[in-house]
Amino acid sequence: MIELKTDAQAALEIVQTAKLLHQKNFLAAGDGNLSYRIDQNHILITPKAKHKAFIKPNELAVINLSGKILKGQPSSEMLMHLEVYKSQPLAKAVIHAHPPHAIAWTIARPDLTELPKEPLSELILAVGSIPIVPFALPGTQDMATNLKPYIANNRVMILARHGALSWGEDLSEAYNGMERLEHTALILYLAQSLGGLTTLSHQHILDLQTIRDKIGPKTF
Ligand SMILES: [Zn+2]
Repeated sequence: MIELKTDAQAALEIVQTAKLLHQKNFLAAGDGNLSYRIDQNHILITPKAKHKAFIKPNELAVINLSGKILKGQPSSEMLMHLEVYKSQPLAKAVIHAHPPHAIAWTIARPDLTELPKEPLSELILAVGSIPIVPFALPGTQDMATNLKPYIANNRVMILARHGALSWGEDLSEAYNGMERLEHTALILYLAQSLGGLTTLSHQHILDLQTIRDKIGPKTF
């Protein structure tokens, strides 16, 4: 049984998290969207094409799991959010943002299928791995289709040449995922610029993965 907030509490939390995402430069202007599952079948989601630093609680839209719009004008990227909620009963919050360093990796290194985890212990400990989901046109069903195979085993994902998506058992877990992702991408970028990526020893990587397995699937 998932713990639920009232609509008003959830709306306030979405607005506050959206402001924080903007302050951290994880999205610009009308970019990004956030959602929260207010009961088993209903989702509160940010409105279409509004600047996320200035949205108000009463502007949030409500949709159901089938994609029916019950209130307001939901984000055109709502299909990705629905894909997460439909396949993951534990998912209570989804964040889609455009973190610049994470996106830059997918533009410069189209050969990568995930962000390199071998150089950095915190990536393995806090999230396990960060896969890169193949590109699809924003706002289309293809985005949700491409995302589908990754959702069960990953709560933090980069969307190639576009952005990133994180989900959690509450909004703070989804936010942590986005912050972890961009911070990791920045560290790797700096290391690459300073001379190149070096890796942990094979044994240390195995030990870190064992600890991560014990911690469980949550992002922190
Ligand atoms: Zn986007």
